[in-house]
Order: sequence, then C-alpha cells, then structure tokens
Amino acid sequence: TTVNETPAVTRSAAELEELDRRVLLHPHQNGAQHERRTMVRGSGCLVWDARGVELLDVMGGGNWVAQVGHGRTELAEAAARQMGTLEYFTGFDIFANDQSLMLAERLVALAPDGLDRVFFTNGGSEGVETAIKFARLYHHHRGEPDRTWVISRHFAYHGTTYGSGTATGFPGMHQGIGLGLPHVAKVSPAHPYRAPDLAPGRDLTDFLLDELAGTIDQIGAGNIAAMIGEPVMGGAGILIPPADYWPRVRELLARHGILLIADEVVTGFGRTGAWFDSAVRGMRADIAVVAKGLTSGYAPLGAVLVRDEIGETVAGGDAYLFHGHTYSGHATACAVALANLDLVDREQLVGRSATVGEWFGAALAPLGDRPHVGEVRIAGATVGIELVADRGTREPLMAGAVARELRDVHRVVARDYGNTLVMAPPLVISQPQVTRAAEAVAEVISRLGAGGELAGRS
Ligand code: PMP
Repeated sequence: TTVNETPAVTRSAAELEELDRRVLLHPHQNGAQHERRTMVRGSGCLVWDARGVELLDVMGGGNWVAQVGHGRTELAEAAARQMGTLEYFTGFDIFANDQSLMLAERLVALAPDGLDRVFFTNGGSEGVETAIKFARLYHHHRGEPDRTWVISRHFAYHGTTYGSGTATGFPGMHQGIGLGLPHVAKVSPAHPYRAPDLAPGRDLTDFLLDELAGTIDQIGAGNIAAMIGEPVMGGAGILIPPADYWPRVRELLARHGILLIADEVVTGFGRTGAWFDSAVRGMRADIAVVAKGLTSGYAPLGAVLVRDEIGETVAGGDAYLFHGHTYSGHATACAVALANLDLVDREQLVGRSATVGEWFGAALAPLGDRPHVGEVRIAGATVGIELVADRGTREPLMAGAVARELRDVHRVVARDYGNTLVMAPPLVISQPQVTRAAEAVAEVISRLGAGGELAGRS
C-alpha cells in the first residue's frame, strides 16, 4: 500500500535532471558521470523515476535500508501522528520525549544481553563517532587516559565523518582531507576467499588472531581503547567470518581490557537474519551501533547501545557528557522507528530474511560454474557475488558494468562494491521478485568477458 499513487511531481524529468546537475552535490558521486535519475515513488520493492520507469529495488532504497519496503502507510501515519502531537523537543539535560524512551526500552529488549543504555544519533557515521568517543571517555574516566587507539580493519565501512571515516578502511576516502583521527590502526578483514597462503595446519582464524595480537603488542594494550568491526562486513562485499573468529577476537580483547564495538548499521534488524547479528556470531560487544533498518529509512535515525557500566562511567556520577546532537532522540524519528519495529515484528521479517537468502541461493545456483564468478556469499537477505577475471588467479573483475547493465537493461537496482555485486533487498521481497533479480544477474554475468567488457545481448 502506498500513500500517494500519483506523486506530486511538478517538474518534468528533464527539468529535474538539469536542476540536479546545476545545484546538487551527491554523496559518493563521480563528477564525470553525466547521467542523473530522479526517483519519485516507491511501493514494496518497486520504485519509479520521474520518467515513469519502474525499477525493482533489490538494494533496500539503494542503500541497505528499506527493511519493510517502500510506501508503507503505517509509517507515514506514525510520523503524521507524532508531528501533530510533539514533533520535537530537545533531549539535552533533563529533557526527553516519550517516543525516545519507549524506543530505547525496545532496543534494549532486542539487543544482546548487557547492552542496556541507549544514545541516539542521526545515522551510522554519528553512531560510530559516538562509540569511539564513549570508548575513549570510558578509559579516561577510569584512569587510563592513554587508551586512545582504535583498531579497525581494511575494507571496513564505518562512515565518512572524520572519526568514522578514519576507521573506514577504503584508502581513497582518506585522500585530500588532511589528517584524520589519530591513533587508528587497521588489521586484515576475515575474508576466507582471499585468505593469504597459509602453512598446512594453520587456519585463517589463527592467522588473523596472530596478526591482531601482534598489533596489540606493537601499540601496547595500555594505549588501546577499542576495536570496531562489522559482524558481517557489508561494503567490503558481504564478508562472512569463520564461526570462531569473533569469539576468539572477543576473548583476546577482553584479556587486554580493550572494548569491542559492533557496527551493526547494515546487519541489524533482520538484514543478515537476526535482530542483532553480533549476538549470533559470539561477539558479545561492549558497544553496538545501529541505524538504517531501525527506521527502514523512513526517518534518519541511529542509536548506540552500551553496557550499563560504560553508560554510568561516561555520563553517570560526576561525569558530564560533552556530546550530543540537536536531533538525538528526535520524537518523530523515534515514533517512526517504533512503528517500523512493529511491522518487522508483525510480518516476521527477521525470520523471513533467511528465507529470502535461501531463495537467492537456489535462484543463483547456476552462477556456480560461470568463469567470472569467484564466490557467491549469502547472509540472510544479503548477497555478494564476487567477480574475477579468472577463477584460478582470482584476479578481481570490477562489478560496475554489471550493476549498470542490470539497472539500464533489466531495471534492477543492485550495487557494485569494487569487484563484488551486492544485493540487500527489502525483507518483504517476494519469491518471484527474487527470481527476476537472480535471472537478470545471471543473464548479465553470462555476457561478461575476462576484461570486464559486456557482450551484446543475443
Ligand atoms: N557503518 C556501516 C557498516 C555502514 O554500512 C554505513 C553506511 N553504509 C555506516 C556505518 C555509515 O552510516 P551513515 O551513512 O548513516 O552515516
């Protein structure tokens, strides 16, 4: 069900595209690209542009977001109701609004045991900033002010503000902006498909744990505040760690008094098959950051959950927490989040996520013997198809052309992350829609050459 069957578009598509070129700076935009596409309407997994072209969105609003699908009247009504009651009031000092309190209570109930205090942000980057600050503050207040280092991983995506951007492990993001956050170290991601050649008998987790232990020794445990990681890495191309990776990392960090921050911005709220993915991977994080699926994208909102003791240390006793955003705990955003979680619950979307993954697994099985498909990775309703020039050498083959062809020819919105094609559809996606997306992906990949070029359609 959608609110507006006929969107109130008052300009032509050409006018909007021209306007776009003239005034809008896009996030993550390549300036050389001339093409623009103005989106005006959505319903379920379908979206329409200003030219009336219908696209199948298997990327959750293009950005891992739309858990409950587009155009849900329930969420529009929740927002309207709250705006008509109390749209906003600050959460600073003694104040709070009822919606933020009820949402905090709900999040604590859904979160892994021990994460009992909630701080609200506007999105993921702010959440990561907050988590890093809280980790440093925690040690500071406990008399260990030298614990400032943060360990992150290569190819991690944690946001693009200065602090979160420094934790992000894509080298290009650090160029041209001067110094980032000092004291951030990177270790290898858990990427079984691209594991280094190991001596017989040594497994990947052993290697990664040795590397992490070496990094801790080098920096000095007494200088390290926290390690941050996505339970399953999203932007790196759906990297699923070995089952013993997080439990062993957790154990090593605990031995050294280093906090563990789970970045659940992508993985939370059913995306990879659980309310909190860190809970099923044995992370036992001290801090968890969520955003995206929290509101299914209907309002900008993120949250940071911390252990009671951390909350008490950074904001209890005589500590004054010098940190906060005007819109922390925004009443309307929180009301929308509560209504969204109601829908996720009622429609059992967390469980459905695994089913969606199974549909994709079956529908994508024919890709298994394609010469340019290195690996297909599925975690809940999240799919990564890693493309290679050659399956023997595993030389990466960039996925951009495949994503473009999917969009322009098949009208399917997926995304390319380097050499991995990613899908993360609304969890309400139907089996026929999964089949349609999978068949489109298979068709395009069947035309892929070793240099990344696409042959014409036969
Ligand atoms: N962490 C992860 C794992 C993400 O994928 C993202 C965004 N894709 C962020 C943090 C940053 O979130 P935001 O874009 O809302 O600032």
